[in-house]
Amino acid sequence: MSAFPHLLAPLDLGFTTLKNRVVMGSMHTGLEDRIWHRGKLAEYFAERARGGVGLIITGGFNPNRSGWFYPFSGSMINLADALSHRPVTKAVHDAGGKICLQLLHAGRYSYVPWSKSASSIKSPINPFKPKALTTKQVQQTVKDFASAAKLAKKAGYDGVELMGSEGYLINQFTAPRSNKRSDKYGGNSENRRRFPVEIVEAVRKACGKDFIIVFRMSMIDLVPEGSTREEVLALAQALEKAGVNILNTGIGWHEARVPTIVTSVPRAAFVEPTAQVKQVVSIPVIASNRINMPDVAEKILADGKADMVSMARPMLADAHWVNKAAEGRVDEINTCIACNQACLDHTFNLKRASCLVNPQACHETELVYLKTRKPKKIAVVGAGPAGLAAATVAAERGHDVTLFDASDRIGGQFNMAARIPGKEEFWETIRYFSKRIEKTGVKLVLNRRIADGELEKEGFEEIIIATGVTPRSPGIPGVDHPMVMLYTDVLQGKRTVGNRVALIGAGGIGFDVGEFLAHDANAVQPQPLEDWMQEWGVSFHSDQPGGLERGEPHPSARKLYLLQRKASALGKDLGRTSGWVHRAVLKMKGVEMIGGVSYDRIDDKGLHITVGGESQLLEVDNVVLCAGQESLRELYQEKPTGKARYHLIGGAELAAELDAKRAIRQGSELAAQL
Ligand code: FAD
Ligand code: NAP
Ligand code: SF4
Repeated sequence: MSAFPHLLAPLDLGFTTLKNRVVMGSMHTGLEDRIWHRGKLAEYFAERARGGVGLIITGGFNPNRSGWFYPFSGSMINLADALSHRPVTKAVHDAGGKICLQLLHAGRYSYVPWSKSASSIKSPINPFKPKALTTKQVQQTVKDFASAAKLAKKAGYDGVELMGSEGYLINQFTAPRSNKRSDKYGGNSENRRRFPVEIVEAVRKACGKDFIIVFRMSMIDLVPEGSTREEVLALAQALEKAGVNILNTGIGWHEARVPTIVTSVPRAAFVEPTAQVKQVVSIPVIASNRINMPDVAEKILADGKADMVSMARPMLADAHWVNKAAEGRVDEINTCIACNQACLDHTFNLKRASCLVNPQACHETELVYLKTRKPKKIAVVGAGPAGLAAATVAAERGHDVTLFDASDRIGGQFNMAARIPGKEEFWETIRYFSKRIEKTGVKLVLNRRIADGELEKEGFEEIIIATGVTPRSPGIPGVDHPMVMLYTDVLQGKRTVGNRVALIGAGGIGFDVGEFLAHDANAVQPQPLEDWMQEWGVSFHSDQPGGLERGEPHPSARKLYLLQRKASALGKDLGRTSGWVHRAVLKMKGVEMIGGVSYDRIDDKGLHITVGGESQLLEVDNVVLCAGQESLRELYQEKPTGKARYHLIGGAELAAELDAKRAIRQGSELAAQL
């Protein structure tokens, strides 16, 4: 008997059956746009189909050119487009999967000067002001969706998903925020839902009844002048009547100022709005957002809150998530930690997506771990992300690998990252690697600090130095005053921190230490959902447009100053899709952020600084140094004296712009070649 009976139960749609309740949600990976990437796209999806996913949904394809994300983004407009998809659908079907093509018209999110929307209202996240579609153009757009769906059928897709959420064109019609029309597609809520209803009817007519139509609707807009609860429920009923088979969940518009998927959003935070929709329709509904482990998914289904669960990023992190859940191997799942660093941040920077914890994602045909024909004796020094990746990939390939760490545990700096409030998911990566060490047969040696030359004597042929970084101590007069501490002292609980604190350095670590100190450091538990909703001003029950209320943030546990020498905005270089959340959190906690600082000295009175030519004294109890890192690489031999070959990876190779994405990728790529 499986531990996840609801998750693994088939779903009969009448004309076709999905083998379980797991949907791989749509993600734009960058492989969609060019025909010559179809082979890579096919293998990326086929791997997830082999991994057991019940239904795959592709990234968005545009039904016409005014719906482009950006010039020449992937579209489904003509027969050539359709035929180019055949290898993708064949690969998925051969692997025993089912796949729907997502049709998405970007509307005012389109990055082209000729963009169109319901009304001519610019989005705050796009420089281009759209033109309002004329009534005739609206009707033509309906036809374009139907034609694209018909082409998708020709391409071999099992159905389509119509993208009606996240603030894209269809959503722009349903919400008063962007629909100020006076024709039959605007005004009252019935008129505003006419566009999606007509699209569904037209697609059904064009594709017949044995074709899956998933509609991804915005369950909660999270923007001012968004739809009300009543309007959301009425739209769901209208869509069912129009011929939709499955309703999928979208949460929040891209321009919303409430986080919806970053790691600090509690798991399964947005299930309730979907559950409310489930109560008013009889077709299956799919829950989504921050569902990343089987127990979370199973509970949603067992509690009757949804009929399926959608996971997008978790399928990047682990293509075999479903099979592992089904086979009782949950501790082997490589969990998505919701960092966005290699997926969404890449997509928004027009780079191919991948995954921080799984660099093979979207590179299935390029980063391949083949069994070695020449097993070697390999030492890896340092069990941080870089060393863990290198050791486990090398051992999986058949090498004899020993992994050393000076500490009493694996994980390196991830042990500190996971202690930051809202980053508890990072423990999952450490759990995953500890299981991988066991499965791949890596010999783990903890509490052993390696000294120069030691390993050669033990006969290792390849020596991988993954010893990471050490915090930088800036040359400020008084830096050895007892009130000064390193961020490592704070996060490892080695020192007690006072009530007034200055943080020197405002990179990723400065921001994280700020969050750590702003919260009660003794209560590092995932934040309860109600508490999180109250802070961000989200309501699932009120009839406020967009589900927004006034946020009531908790005050900071201490007075904090976050400082940097650069005059630019603090946190400017944090992740593209998550940096704004870190900035917003510290702002709502009242942290004083000061740029353009020069540090004069530290003494018994506090930290003396100069800003804009004026001297200031920050009367603080402690100064915490978050001023970057330096590589620890003294074990590395560029010109080895013995037979062993040396390699440098992760922070040991380069401390500048280091993150776990680079560390894991470098470790994996090196081990794939040894
Ligand atoms: P490390 O993690 O530093 O590991 C090096 C290991 O080598 C350590 O375990 C150490 O004990 C061991 N070692 C050193 N010398 C020896 C020796 N002589 N003998 C034996 N063992 C030795 N990155 C992100 O991408 N996203 C984030 O959100 C993020 N958040 C962070 C938050 C915090 C608070 C911190 C501190 C870091 C964060 N990072 C984040 C950075 C990330 O953790 C590092 O980039 C990553 O850990 C570097 O990996 P590494 O393997 O190169 O080095
Ligand atoms: P960082 O981003 O390089 O920031 C270092 C900070 O210290 C900067 O604000 C810098 O600003 C300041 N600084 C540098 N040299 C200094 C000196 N000599 N004196 C005083 N201040 C100095 O490095 P980090 O914060 O240590 O983070 C390390 C890596 O971990 C990052 O690159 C990041 O990728 C990763 N990380 C990521 C996240 C995330 O959420 N994605 C979170 C944590 C860590 P000024 O030079 O302007 O003063
Ligand atoms: Fe998840 Fe981060 Fe991987 Fe994206 S990069 S799939 S958020 S673990």
